[in-house]
Amino acid sequence: MTEHDSDCLFCGIVSGEIPADMVHEDDEVVAFRDIAPRAPTHVLVIPRRHIADAQALTHADAAVLARLFGVVRKVADEAGLDRGYRVVTNVGPESGQTVFHLHFHLLGGRPMAWPPG
Ligand code: AMP
Repeated sequence: MTEHDSDCLFCGIVSGEIPADMVHEDDEVVAFRDIAPRAPTHVLVIPRRHIADAQALTHADAAVLARLFGVVRKVADEAGLDRGYRVVTNVGPESGQTVFHLHFHLLGGRPMAWPPG
């Protein structure tokens, strides 16, 4: 698995080549505001390492997954989402995935409908 894919938009954000509104950065995980927000809080939480999507995850990624969800919790706490929030990851074209670098959408700040469209 490649660490950095030079054709990947989110690898470009990780490396700083592409600007983003960062809300968290550490050695494994970065989080930034979605450029087209679908809720008052809409943050994308991603691994620095290039992983195409959730389908590509293996047991070897357990630690980074725990780190990703730790950042989800921290961002939700900082945003004051005490009434709840949604975490979404799209996998493949039929789901609506448009960027093929694993990312968790953290959406909150308004009531959410179910099921999603
Ligand atoms: P998905 O459709 O699940 O692959 O999600 C990709 C998300 O990335 C979409 O919600 C886009 O609005 C968002 N996005 C695309 N380009 C950027 C960018 N340069 N900075 C921040 N978010 C972006």
